[in-house]
Amino acid sequence: MQNLSLYLHIPFCIQKCAYCDFLSAPASDAVIDNYVDCLCKEIVAKAELYGQNVVDTIFIGGGTPSILSIHQMERINTTLQNHFVIASALEYSIEANPGTLNGEKLSCYRACGINRLSMGLQSANNDELKCLGRIHDYQSFLDNYTEARKCGFTNINVDLMSGLPGQTVQQYQDTLSKIVALQPNHISAYGLIIEENTPFYERYHNTNATSSLPSEEKERQMYYLCRELLSQAGYHQYEISNYAKTGYECKHNIGYWTGKNYLGMGLGASSMIHNTRWKNTESMVLYSSKATEKEEVIELSTKDQMEEFMFLGLRLTKGISCDEFKERFEQSVRSVYGEWLQKMEESGLIVWEQRIYLTKRGMDLANYVMTGFLL
Ligand code: SF4
Repeated sequence: MQNLSLYLHIPFCIQKCAYCDFLSAPASDAVIDNYVDCLCKEIVAKAELYGQNVVDTIFIGGGTPSILSIHQMERINTTLQNHFVIASALEYSIEANPGTLNGEKLSCYRACGINRLSMGLQSANNDELKCLGRIHDYQSFLDNYTEARKCGFTNINVDLMSGLPGQTVQQYQDTLSKIVALQPNHISAYGLIIEENTPFYERYHNTNATSSLPSEEKERQMYYLCRELLSQAGYHQYEISNYAKTGYECKHNIGYWTGKNYLGMGLGASSMIHNTRWKNTESMVLYSSKATEKEEVIELSTKDQMEEFMFLGLRLTKGISCDEFKERFEQSVRSVYGEWLQKMEESGLIVWEQRIYLTKRGMDLANYVMTGFLL
């Protein structure tokens, strides 16, 4: 029986950041309390269906899960522990944002068995944080980080963002240097994407204000700088945007990229079990009345599975295994994608041996490389 990953979505934040299109919003204590009730009901119901699988990663994400009170967090954790079979070697992560964390909450997480803390920082520059609409400054991140280490967190991720409005390469370098000096175990470094239906979209899309966004060339420089600085500091890049000290790669996310079964619970959460994918409703009203109802159930065809195998697997620096492709689909990767792979190899964008993986240049042009895997 395959191991299972669990994802729990907490769709609340103190305020909405100006660039964010995630499923999250501010809410009253009563709404959050009611949501925790519904989530616990969903955990019990889903455990009846999938509780026989051993859970080896849990990820509580959001939104801002650290907005929950200690009591709410303990309720969720107790429900999980009582209804699922949990592996002893469990990776148990929670996302937390500075401004919502304190020593009591951090101790509660440790007591719940949470052993990986993912902190949303984005930048060490207070002007940039303000521009992003974050609720915290750099000092409050530092205080929380120090407290987390004191509470016994030996596995901490820090999320960073580049390509911010007005950001110079030097400013990004300052952020990277400050974070590297703290020696977190893992760093996720994403480029800002201007998403529709966000204040940033209004501000920076189709207006002259785009001139305050770094040029594509500057964004590239930031990406290279990040890769170089982090590599010098002993972080290895294991995915296009993720870097870790050896042994601290995020098992939960690797599961997503390698096609492992995962069960998502909570508002709008996605699941994929045995090549069937579904999504929970994004309506809080519907979720509150029918927390266990599935929406958009999609059974992945072999073609879909092959595409995902390539798209997701090639995000990892180790890429995909040709043998695994053959074993899974009973066809060689050459017979399905040979022509495109050969073209990409000749262009120096992939290496094609026992495994297939993107070269550094291939990572820069990953979107282009991926287009050829659509069947
Ligand atoms: S804290 Fe995260 S989820 Fe919440 S609004 Fe900001 S970016 Fe979005």
